[in-house]
Amino acid sequence: MSKITTVIFDMDGVLVDAREWHYEALNKALALFGVRISRADHLSAYDGLPTRAKLEMLSKEHTLPRGLHNIISELKQLYTMQIVNAHCRPTFSHELALSRLANDGYKLGLASNAVRESVHSMMRLTSLYDYFSLILSNEDVKKSKPDPEIYLTAMERLKIKPEECLIVEDNQNGIKAACASGAHVLPVRDPTDVTLTRLQRAIAACEGKKGLLLETAL
Ligand SMILES: [Mg+2]
Repeated sequence: MSKITTVIFDMDGVLVDAREWHYEALNKALALFGVRISRADHLSAYDGLPTRAKLEMLSKEHTLPRGLHNIISELKQLYTMQIVNAHCRPTFSHELALSRLANDGYKLGLASNAVRESVHSMMRLTSLYDYFSLILSNEDVKKSKPDPEIYLTAMERLKIKPEECLIVEDNQNGIKAACASGAHVLPVRDPTDVTLTRLQRAIAACEGKKGLLLETAL
């Protein structure tokens, strides 16, 4: 029977409520070129994807010239970092959860579709950085989520099997990637769902089983 040895967290929407920040930063950059992603489109299709994938969708569906992708990506990152530095702060419940899990001997990992600069800055600003044995960004893989590559890479680097691993994810692209990796998956609605009690219950529910997709209400 496999015990859960490792918990891998997504970042945006799980440990940091950055979804609004990414949405605002990208729309601020797009506004310079007369383009905007509606909130409905963001929530139904764009949320959780890397900026490059969002820009590619905008070029296919709204004729955004591909020659603008680099400058929009750079501006989006600049605006994201301004918002992150102004608003990203530690959350007591997350510090408590991660410190207790680490103290109980669980390995902790982070696997995010965001770029490395954003991931590292946000984890330092929330004081969570030092709890992780491994931090992967979209710059560490060829295919970002919903492809499972980032989770498969994380499990390989942490030397664990999928049945030993619980992944915490918040949106459809991330949950699809996590399920395809064969690990257990705890879906959460937002960072307030990520508590020590819920993580401990999820770990207990998965132990000894093959990859499970748990109930959000757990
Ligand atoms: Mg997410």
